[in-house]
Amino acid sequence: MTFILVVLAGVAFYAMVRAIKKILDGRKHITEAEFRAYLRGGRTMNDDDRSRVTRHLGICLECQGHVDEWIRKDNDENA
Ligand SMILES: [Zn+2]
Repeated sequence: MTFILVVLAGVAFYAMVRAIKKILDGRKHITEAEFRAYLRGGRTMNDDDRSRVTRHLGICLECQGHVDEWIRKDNDENA
């Protein structure tokens, strides 16, 4: 019985650590290189990284501003 409780506590703890890590990762700002990889279809990124970029852009005004800048820079270079 005790063994089951220990295993359950371990699983719950692991799930909690993963959830917290996901939240913290989502707060990390996106770099220009990451954003460019993301724009290119994210083939060089794994699913976790790609969904992190999507999630972060949804919540971070600062990075949304950078994205505008990076896209504008692209247009300037192509013009
Ligand atoms: Zn950000």
